[in-house]
Amino acid sequence: MELFLGQKQKQQEFKLNSISQLSSSATPRSSAVARFSFGSGGIELRFQQESESGSSDVFRVDLRTSQSSISSGACFLQIFKLGPIESVCITEGSETSKKDEKSYERGITIQFRTEEESKAFDFAFEQWKKDAVAQGARLQNGTISASRSKFDEKIEASSAKMYFHYYGQLLHQQNMLQDYVRTGTYYAAVIENRADFFGRVVVDVGAGSGILSLFAAQAGAKHVYAVEASEMADYARRLIAGNPFLGQRITVIKGKVEDVELPEKADIMISEPMGTLLVNERMLESYVIARDRFLVPNGKMFPTTGRIHMAPFSDEYLFVEIANKALFWQQQNYYGVDLTPLHGSAFQGYFSQPVVDAFDPRLLVAPAIFHTIDFTSVKEEELYEIEIPLKFVASVGTRVHGLACWFDVLFNGSTVQRWLTTAPGAPTTHWYQLRCVLSQPLYIMAGQEITGQLRLVAHNAQSYTMYLTMSAKMWGAGAEQGRILQTSSCKLDLKEPYYRMSQPQAYAWAQDQSPHQLIPSQDVPLQSQDAVGSGLLQQLSQNLGAPSNQCHENV
Ligand code: SAH
Repeated sequence: MELFLGQKQKQQEFKLNSISQLSSSATPRSSAVARFSFGSGGIELRFQQESESGSSDVFRVDLRTSQSSISSGACFLQIFKLGPIESVCITEGSETSKKDEKSYERGITIQFRTEEESKAFDFAFEQWKKDAVAQGARLQNGTISASRSKFDEKIEASSAKMYFHYYGQLLHQQNMLQDYVRTGTYYAAVIENRADFFGRVVVDVGAGSGILSLFAAQAGAKHVYAVEASEMADYARRLIAGNPFLGQRITVIKGKVEDVELPEKADIMISEPMGTLLVNERMLESYVIARDRFLVPNGKMFPTTGRIHMAPFSDEYLFVEIANKALFWQQQNYYGVDLTPLHGSAFQGYFSQPVVDAFDPRLLVAPAIFHTIDFTSVKEEELYEIEIPLKFVASVGTRVHGLACWFDVLFNGSTVQRWLTTAPGAPTTHWYQLRCVLSQPLYIMAGQEITGQLRLVAHNAQSYTMYLTMSAKMWGAGAEQGRILQTSSCKLDLKEPYYRMSQPQAYAWAQDQSPHQLIPSQDVPLQSQDAVGSGLLQQLSQNLGAPSNQCHENV
């Protein structure tokens, strides 16, 4: 209903089914109304309870004076959808007194009578906000900030659109679900640690199909909030509704974890935010933001920590394959055209693509090292730039063609500690492994030191630019002077990998795995496929993803 009061006063009113304070456990009040008004009298949004004796304010915000019914001072108002007919209205802000600045947050849950009325309200809210922003210059106590989430600030809109479009499709969720090493390890980690879930409030960060929420409910969670930003949220609702015994304890919230509000804090968070090299997709940042927004102090995180493992490798075939790709541009008579001016750029282009495939761990030429990211304590900003110093001692004399990387994550449960590893030689996952290939290989001798750095710099297309430098140190007599004999560097884009597999896909790709890989045990030491394992192989195997390995910590 829209009412025009006089020339400049506009009012719009919505009947509500119920209204309740977020922080209170009191029963929702019925017979309520939401009323927008815009005009000389103020730019107001009021939620009022109606009774026989008249109507009284439950919540009122006036954007002209930037005052809400609970406070004066700067005020920030947002509305988030919890479901088709339910929303929360939150005010955040700060009051400045002589002594200090106090910030506050307050919210109410509102329920509409129908989905149409809920949609009409959202539309009216956006319109009301736009009108108010347009009048910003005339606001007395500062202007309202049009809300732009942390996600939108750092991620390019086109990248986010493609990303969520990808995850909105069942076929891509299926690819992940069919990675039995991945899903089976999550299942085992949750079920074996049911004590961490039983009777607890859980948040599933990036719920996708809702599978991890259903696992948490199986483990006895009191309630699970499944937050999913893509259209997959609607499928998750259907899957959860189709499993009513578990589903009654799960609420799907469609939106980004950076934006949505939850009615209560969580005791434990579950998520699968790992991309290629652990950090691709930049979803770890969302996991950390969700931790800071939703988790109780000292709450649990599944997974708890992640490690990037690295080791130099030698692979003549791979090197030649990549170098040969650019040969095309060496033609001097391509339909009468000399292509050679572009050969150098094409050559560099191919070497700027990290290679994604499953390789034989026998290609590694030194014990691996690792860099740990503790999800429970890392700050979001620390993930913008990650610098990892490299130091290896070569086990054999060979040509080093670059750096091989993989990752693992730990579920640090109260009952069982379980690792999900993507190490070469371990059962293959849809992440495979990643290799950065140097266009100038290094020549090294057994015992020679290889030093360098891997620097990862986040970019706004949800990935990282990788800067790799590897140097062969002086070896034998004179080694103590620490002279560098040879250095090779390259710059790669983690967003543009060369999938050396049959079926390339953007973020993950299909992989059929045999049933025996269900719930692999990380406790089983990795075996070399070749029984004639040398000392080096045994040493390497020990270093591949086994949690109790002897790798030196890099942080
Ligand atoms: N948890 C599911 C899906 C994992 S894939 C499973 O384990 O099978 C990651 C999911 O997180 C995708 O569905 C993606 O759309 C979602 N996602 C990524 N960033 C998000 C964000 N900032 N807020 C909410 N969802 C997000």
